[in-house]
Amino acid sequence: MTDAIKQHPLGVCKVCGAITYRKEAVGKRCERDRRGARCSGTVAVASRDACWKRCTSCGGTGKQGDTPCTYCRGIGWSLAKPWSI
Ligand SMILES: [Zn+2]
Ligand SMILES: [Zn+2]
Repeated sequence: MTDAIKQHPLGVCKVCGAITYRKEAVGKRCERDRRGARCSGTVAVASRDACWKRCTSCGGTGKQGDTPCTYCRGIGWSLAKPWSI
């Protein structure tokens, strides 16, 4: 049995790097709490396939065996061009 390749996230916070899979959250203020204070960042659009590259460590599954991939933190993808977001 092989793990399915995950869908890449749709948005990423420019400040804390939090990702979202909800398109409603894109373009809005980041919802992540940082030590009790809400993150001041905005979730940038990263919905295009070109924004992401599949994690070479786990092949896009987000897993290495039974544990989450440490390289991509279980996301299965990494931003292709973080500086362009
Ligand atoms: Zn954030
Ligand atoms: Zn990975």
